[in-house]
Amino acid sequence: MNIRAFQLKCQARDSILFPECVDWTPADRLVELIGELGEAANIQKKLKRDYNSVRFEDLEMEAGDAFVSFCLWATGLNVDLETAAIKAYNKVLDRKESDMRRLDDLRREDHS
Ligand SMILES: [Mg+2]
Repeated sequence: MNIRAFQLKCQARDSILFPECVDWTPADRLVELIGELGEAANIQKKLKRDYNSVRFEDLEMEAGDAFVSFCLWATGLNVDLETAAIKAYNKVLDRKESDMRRLDDLRREDHS
């Protein structure tokens, strides 16, 4: 499954399971995303300070929550994350005048 397909899966799942959120704006989704990142940050803090109160798997789960929220936010803006990520990746290569290979398509990269 590519990133765009996952974005659409998240949107479809959300519209069925959370119909009360169907009219959420991208700003609402951004607040949701920041909330998930806050949850991840809290676990990250506890992993250092109170090691026995949380598990690494809790952080992994919050990373997943944040990614799903990120996908929902981007989809609400009609941003194709794969295209955006490739542009950002290549932009850094260009800025650093790197001879590393530019990405054209993540799906093609997976199969080469
Ligand atoms: Mg969460």
